[in-house]
Amino acid sequence: MSTSSATSPFLTAEHDGLREMVADFAAKRIEPAAEEWDREHTFPVDVVLEMGELGLFGIPFPEPYGFGGDFLSLCIAIEELGRVDQSMAITLEAGVGLGANPIAKFGNEEQRERWLPDLCAGKALGGFGLTEPDAGSDAGGTRTTARLEGDEWVINGEKAFITNSGTPITSLVTVTARTGGEQSAPEISAIIVPAGTPGFEVQPPYRKMGWHASDTHGLTFTDCRVPAGNLLGSRGRGFAQFLEILDEGRVAIAALAVGVIQRCVDDSTVYANERTTFGRPIGANQAVAFRIADMQVSLDAARHLVYHAAWLVDRGQPFKREAAVAKLFATEAAISATRSATQVFGGYGFIDETPVSRHYRDAKILEIGEGTSEVQRMVIARDLGIPVR
Ligand SMILES: Cc1cc2nc3c(=O)[nH]c(=O)nc-3n(C[C@H](O)[C@H](O)[C@H](O)COP(=O)(O)OP(=O)(O)OC[C@H]3O[C@@H](n4cnc5c(N)ncnc54)[C@H](O)[C@@H]3O)c2cc1C
Repeated sequence: MSTSSATSPFLTAEHDGLREMVADFAAKRIEPAAEEWDREHTFPVDVVLEMGELGLFGIPFPEPYGFGGDFLSLCIAIEELGRVDQSMAITLEAGVGLGANPIAKFGNEEQRERWLPDLCAGKALGGFGLTEPDAGSDAGGTRTTARLEGDEWVINGEKAFITNSGTPITSLVTVTARTGGEQSAPEISAIIVPAGTPGFEVQPPYRKMGWHASDTHGLTFTDCRVPAGNLLGSRGRGFAQFLEILDEGRVAIAALAVGVIQRCVDDSTVYANERTTFGRPIGANQAVAFRIADMQVSLDAARHLVYHAAWLVDRGQPFKREAAVAKLFATEAAISATRSATQVFGGYGFIDETPVSRHYRDAKILEIGEGTSEVQRMVIARDLGIPVR
């Protein structure tokens, strides 16, 4: 049993309706194919376009580009997709949070008009190029450079692990690059690089432990020229802008975690009743029943943290610490829940064809992407006034 406005103070009847619609779509269009996409490493572009037609990519953006929904609605949509397939959930999370959001938040009118209609309609996807081969948690150590030559930026460097950057519908990647300053105090700016720009090369997809149906590539930039007007926001503010984007992203990643924990509870409960050993259902053993009860406890806590953080976002209140807390707790709980569910399913949990096994593999990245668990602990400790470095 999930949650609804009848049991959660954060939810309204509109949230319930959205949840029902996304759950129905996920059951009909994603569930039947998710195992095959995982096995074949397929990015299902047709289904992503259908998610666009359903309006999912436009949820939190104001009209005329989006539907003026709240951030909590986006989290609910991500949660419901994540209950069925983490790859499609991250495709939505990254498409909205990392692709469209930087342009909606920091773009000028011209940039918004050019890029947002297709990004918000889910006809196009944008990538967020922060991480580099030698700069992940320490993303301020970016080595990619952009030099202004006449009325063009000339970009050179590499980005690593960029989601949605090489799909057939990727329209742009926003990258951070050093545009000046000293090595010790670089000036970092954000620049929009349209897909297909000469000198912008998308590397072959990574072979990953999970998220097989999500698109992830390394990117290289070799004397890649884009107009000076592709600067996003203010020169020198690129890193700060990206960190702001990541605060919301962390809440959304935590929503993926809630989705997968809910699925673990659902599947494990059914299996604990159906599977018999020694002449009785395995759920008659406290060792199994208590494991599932513990999953439910972590689910309730994670969901509450995510909805509370999203509620703060929607009220324009500070939420940096709450986002880090939600991400840290929910993603670590997801790893624990998927491990437990695999145990409840015994040998069948280890077989690739069961969703349990896929969820176990998919969950691990949640405590790495958009800031590792260690980075979340740093954010929380700093917020408490502890001088951790
Ligand atoms: C599938 C996938 C999709 C991704 N999508 C994107 C994307 O779309 N855009 C993007 O920009 N990036 C993306 N990333 C990158 C991701 O955000 C980084 O991998 C992550 O931030 C960690 O960086 P790193 O891999 O360089 O690890 P490192 O920073 O090298 O960290 C290695 C380990 O050391 C720990 N560590 C590092 N510094 C400290 C410290 N000071 N204190 C304590 N522990 C520390 C880390 O927590 C980690 O456990 C993606 C990654 C993957 C795998």
